[in-house]
Amino acid sequence: MKKINYANDDITVVWQPELCRHATFCFRQLPEVFNPAVRRWINPNGASNEKIIEQVKKCPSGALSFFYNEKSK
Ligand code: SF4
Repeated sequence: MKKINYANDDITVVWQPELCRHATFCFRQLPEVFNPAVRRWINPNGASNEKIIEQVKKCPSGALSFFYNEKSK
């Protein structure tokens, strides 16, 4: 299944478009990060990591997930 990654320095948000039900939760609740009007529609630098993670967990379809980036030593 197709996965698109949107990373900032700490976390990577993963979006699976085939699962997305366009329920609109994400961009109504956190428009600083989720903006379907632009091509790279998830801006992982638009809010704090905590806020982004909280929003990712609310996605009803499972289209959004995230992981912590491995820190380079
Ligand atoms: S909340 Fe999930 S299902 Fe709804 S638009 Fe965002 S990514 Fe898609």
